[in-house]
Amino acid sequence: MSPSLHVVGSLMVDRVIRVAALPRPGETAVARGVQVLPGGKGANQAAAAALAGARVRMCGRTGAEGAFIVSALAERGVDVAAIRIDDPAAGNAVVLVEDGGQNAIVIAPESNARLSIDDVRAFVAGASAGDALLLQNECAHLEATVELAARAGLRTWLNAAPADAAVASLGIETLAGLIVNETEAEAMTGLADPRRALGELALHVPGGTVVVTLGAGGAIAWSRGSLLEFRAHRVNVVDTVGCGDAFVGAMLAAIVGGAPVERAIRFGNAAGALAATRPGAMPSLPSRAEIEALVAVLDA
Ligand code: ADP
Repeated sequence: MSPSLHVVGSLMVDRVIRVAALPRPGETAVARGVQVLPGGKGANQAAAAALAGARVRMCGRTGAEGAFIVSALAERGVDVAAIRIDDPAAGNAVVLVEDGGQNAIVIAPESNARLSIDDVRAFVAGASAGDALLLQNECAHLEATVELAARAGLRTWLNAAPADAAVASLGIETLAGLIVNETEAEAMTGLADPRRALGELALHVPGGTVVVTLGAGGAIAWSRGSLLEFRAHRVNVVDTVGCGDAFVGAMLAAIVGGAPVERAIRFGNAAGALAATRPGAMPSLPSRAEIEALVAVLDA
């Protein structure tokens, strides 16, 4: 059986609130409506990878309010045995979306910040050498987890999202891969030009692959000394929420399935495009069959 993908990451109760215009300081806006959806980068990416065909298990922590996220993961085929639902306050994200599509997000990590290092250690011990571990910048104990995984012989991929300049100074030189979007690439390097940022990030991850996603511009990557470029698929864009998570999850599913990096990025690129054609994050994630069909379009 091909190696498994292990995800240590966040679960968030996403409250998506639609407003005519984002409120300014001191202002009160009346929402058009509120939706409560399963979210968190860890949960979204675990779901994306499972839907894309990987064997996925996830470690994380939420509270009773987030139990529906765990059910959503299980429905999509994620092994949820290592997710604790015992915290008094589940992680929450308030996502304000204005009519023009602009958004503003506040995250309250809560339960996610209280995942213990012992839980992570036990989870990593359940993985086999050669398996892949996927982390995001919403994880507690990020640096310690990277170290534990290196000792266990896992191939660790970090999606350094959300953006944070401090990630660049973490010990990430053992990573198999780093995936960021343009904003995160700039936050980590101070370089606004994504190609220059890619070159700089490659120095932080000497033995690995670095991918910078460019939204409607596709993606660029540095892998084994070469620059790879990927055009985005032309799709009818409904909402780009969840594109990054779809990209990362699907790319990692291809990696653990044995695909070379270039092929895996094509898989991610197609999954990201498909997620743009549907609203929401977790509900917009594509299946393996849909991804393969779109990849075949560019192959033809
Ligand atoms: P994030 O969601 O983290 O901001 P991006 O916006 O870079 O990340 O999107 C991730 C990936 O999703 C892109 O590399 C691309 O493959 C796909 N994608 C995003 N927006 C579009 C779009 N408008 N058209 C086609 N593909 C898209």
